[in-house]
This record gives sequence, C-alpha cells and structure tokens, in this order.
Amino acid sequence: MTDPLRRRAAPLRMRRRRLVTPDPLLPREVPAGSEAVVVGGGIAGVSAAVVLAERGVRVTLLEAADHLGGRLGAWPHTLSDGTVAQVEHGFHAFFRQYYTWRSILRRADPQLSFLWPVGHYPVISARWPDEDLSGLPAAPPFNLLALALRSRSLSRRELTSADPDAGRALLAYDRATTTAELDGVDAASFLDRLGMTERTRSMLFEAFARSFFCNQGDLSAAELVAMFHYYFLGNPEGIAFDAPCTDHATAVWQPLWRYLTSLGAQVRTGARVTAVHPDGAGWRIEGPAATTTRHLVLALDPGALRAVVTGSPALAAAAPRLHAQCAALRVAPPFAVSRLWLDRDVAPGRAVFSAVSGQPTLDSVTVYSRLEEPSARWAAATGGSVLELHSYSCAEPDATSAAAALRAELAVLWPETADATVLDRYDRLEATAPAFPPGTAGTRPGVRTDARGLRVAGDFVETPYLAGLMERSSMSGVLAANDVLAELGAAAEPVDGIPQRGLLAGVPALRGARGRHAAAR
Ligand SMILES: Cc1cc2nc3c(=O)[nH]c(=O)nc-3n(C[C@H](O)[C@H](O)[C@H](O)COP(=O)(O)OP(=O)(O)OC[C@H]3O[C@@H](n4cnc5c(N)ncnc54)[C@H](O)[C@@H]3O)c2cc1C
Repeated sequence: MTDPLRRRAAPLRMRRRRLVTPDPLLPREVPAGSEAVVVGGGIAGVSAAVVLAERGVRVTLLEAADHLGGRLGAWPHTLSDGTVAQVEHGFHAFFRQYYTWRSILRRADPQLSFLWPVGHYPVISARWPDEDLSGLPAAPPFNLLALALRSRSLSRRELTSADPDAGRALLAYDRATTTAELDGVDAASFLDRLGMTERTRSMLFEAFARSFFCNQGDLSAAELVAMFHYYFLGNPEGIAFDAPCTDHATAVWQPLWRYLTSLGAQVRTGARVTAVHPDGAGWRIEGPAATTTRHLVLALDPGALRAVVTGSPALAAAAPRLHAQCAALRVAPPFAVSRLWLDRDVAPGRAVFSAVSGQPTLDSVTVYSRLEEPSARWAAATGGSVLELHSYSCAEPDATSAAAALRAELAVLWPETADATVLDRYDRLEATAPAFPPGTAGTRPGVRTDARGLRVAGDFVETPYLAGLMERSSMSGVLAANDVLAELGAAAEPVDGIPQRGLLAGVPALRGARGRHAAAR
C-alpha cells in the first residue's frame, strides 16, 4: 500500500496507476473447500462475488430484491400500449477512470460493447448560456486552463482574483491534508471562499456538487475537493463518460449473473438478511436464506447496513467499532426519478444527457430514446420520445409532487415539452444514497472491520484509495474480496486507480498571501 508515484514528477502523476499489486509468490487459487457469503447484489456485492468465485471460493450471494443491481438495477414495467419496458433507478454515467468496475464488467463483455460514448456533456440553465464540459484535456493544469479559456461563465479575472488558499486546496488534493483542512467545512462555505460569481458557481460547481446527492451546505468540502480531483483535475481519462446502449438488466446484470453461475456461485434473490450473529469461528445469517459462513461480506446500501448491524445485538458486542460507525451512518436526502414516455420528440439539438443548474428540483435530463435501443424502438414506432428527469437531492414530499415539479421545470428549459402529452410515466422517490456531511471523515466503516471474518463494501465505505460512486462500490467490493483472499493465503486481485494526489499536493497553504489578498479586496 505504499505510494511510489508520490515521489515522481508531476506529469507522470496523472497516469493510471496500480494501487494493489498481487504478490507473485502467492497462489491464485484458494484452498479447496473455501466458502464465503456476500449479502447485497449491487455493484459492491457482485464485484466481491466475482473475484472470490474466480479464485475457487464457493460463493453464496444473497440479495433482498428480486433482481441484481441495487441502485444500478432494472426491472420490467408494462406500458399502457402493452410494451414491456425495463425501468431503472436512473441514468448512469460510466466514467472512463472506473478501472475496477470496468474490469468486472469485462468478465461478461470483454469489449464493453454495450457502452457507447456520450460525447456532448452540457450544463444547461434557464438563466445563462450552456457550458460544455466534454473534450477538455486530461492533465492539470491544462484541463483547468482549457476550461477557463473555453468557459462562457468563468472569467480569467475570477481565476486570478480567487482566494489563493481555496484555489490551492482544489489543486492540492491529498487525502490526509485535504481531510484535515477541509472536512470540518461545508462545500457551500468553501465555494464562497473561491469568490466566484453566481453564474460561474451555478454553471460549474452546483450541478457537480449535487451529483453526490447532497446540497452544498450538507456536503463536506473535503469530499467535494476529493471528487473534483477524481472526476476532473486528477482524472487521466478526462471528463468523458460512456453509457449503456440498452437497459442495465440486459447490458450488465443478466451477463454477470450468468458469469457467476458459470463459476459455481449460488445467486439467491428475494433473500433479505435480517441479522447476522457471530457463531464460533464464523457468522450465522438470519433471513429466508439462513446460513452460516466463515467469511461474510456485507455489501448493502448505508440505511440497510445500519438496520442489519443495529438489529444484530450479538454483533454489537463482537464488533463495537463497526456497530458505532453504522449507528452514525447518514443517508442522503431522497432522489427523485421520473421516466416519461411523451407523444412527441424533443428538439433535434438536445443532448442525450444534460446536467441542469439553477432549478430547485431538476438536476439532469436524459433523452433515453437517443441513448438506448429499447427506448429508441418505442420512439420510432410511436413518433414519441422517452425522457428521464432526475433530482439528486429532492425536497418534495412524495414521488408524485416531485414528478410534477420536474416536469414543470423541464418545460421552462425545453419549451417544446410544455404541451407534450405524457403517454406513460414511472416516478420514484427513494433514499438509499450515502451522505458525506462535514465533520464525518473517518467515522464511516472501512472494508475491514473489528470483527474477524466480517467485511463491508459499498459506495460510502472508507477505502484507502480515492474513487467515486460506482467505482467506489466496485473497488470496495474487490478490496473486501482481497481481504478474504489474504486470509485464505491467495494473491490479491490487482486494483488500479487515478493518481491519488493533486498537482499542488504538498505545497503549503498561502495564509499570508490570502490575508494580503483579502485586505486588498
Ligand atoms: C438516480 C441515480 C443516478 C446515479 N448516477 C450515477 C452515475 O451517473 N455514475 C455513478 O458512478 N454512480 C451513479 N449513481 C450511484 C450508483 O448507483 C451507486 O454508487 C452504486 O450503484 C451503489 O452500489 P452498491 O453496491 O454500493 O449499493 P446498492 O446498489 O445500494 O446495493 C445494495 C444492495 O443490497 C441489497 N440489500 C439491501 N438490504 C438488504 C438485506 N437486508 N439483505 C440482502 N440484500 C439487501 C439491495 O437490494 C441492493 O441490491 C447513481 C445513483 C442513482 C440512484
């Protein structure tokens, strides 16, 4: 877990890098008879299950829902014309630096042929001209300079007059330093310090911050800086992403389920685990698929993990630290998703995916009928279109009122939708995303817990390496599998990631300069 590239020159730092290297002297396969249970069939659980099953571990995967996928899952929904459409929790961008998740997906589709590039990445607003974040160079500071030159919101004057300390912090991501300096600060106060105009802040930061399911006031500034490094400043692949050309069940989950089964894993859906108890050298699992295991991976969403752990009294005694961490876990406000089947198409120039800034509810619009084949077929047959509207941190009380607000706000941005007839709709309001409030770094569970044989994975889990959203889930799942492999004497699965430190990491804070700057203003 050392960091050899810390010592290298800056340009080299911005390359993809190996974070976990397998020990060549250790065997790849585990001893015969090894077994493990993974609870939760989302990205984290399936990533753990794939790696373990490949090494010869007899894996049982227990998933509460009737399908795999968790927040990336998909399930059938019959439209009024009888068409069976797959609906999902929402559009997902598969970023190119998701090395771990992409490597798991390659097991079922080596060419990743289900992904296609979503070239255009606009941020749209009712007040200001669009910003396009696609096609920026990958390496800092060129990505930042190109953004400044191209941006219609960010002026060079803002760049030169920004608080130098806040600007340095953005470019100087380093886990320990960034956490120490900024975890106690909320993202809104940090952005205040950058001294941007309302327009720049709205067009370049607001939509980005809300993609993490939090309002700026409730998001740790350290998490914001980490994610800015992960997705933009330190991302060797640039800010480009791909999206599936068909629904997530067909593209991802059915192939991965088949792959797991081919390796001898048992996948059980409809198997909600209610509690886990220490049992001799292992764990007893309660629920419809009650079983025991030596190696247990809990790969749940944060609310479900909190419920299982706090509902398992004997676990509290065996793992007091995990129990306290889970009791303190915070779930983000609900997100709302409204899928609309409209009687007409939207204007030809509308991008497949648009981030939205400055609206109270609407955070993004995806034109599904220009994204995935099943929706495109429906649109071609009916002359209509399929849209999906998201609110990542929704203040509306229920799915119906959230959907009404989303639709009304869309009509302001895309007037051609105002009079469209909604032929079918599917609306959801759900709270399963993790929150990263100020002051909580170090309080969330890590992969390895204080109970022997019990590991935790998910997109809220503290991992030694920086990753975001789907990649954090997948990486934590693979790290949990690696912990099991280590105990069984087998070599680790390699893990790749982006450079773990920013261009200016290690450059001391310019407190004097900031003071002078503030005085000058
Ligand atoms: C609308 C939306 C848009 C998003 N967009 C993006 C994006 O563009 N890019 C990106 O990278 N990420 C995105 N994300 C985030 C991404 O979906 C998550 O980070 C990721 O899917 C989380 O995976 P996970 O395995 O950690 O958790 P989950 O997917 O929540 O999986 C947990 C699993 O545990 C199961 N479970 C719960 N309780 C129990 C129990 N008691 N017993 C057994 N099983 C149980 C659940 O049913 C679920 O299948 C988005 C999320 C949403 C909701």
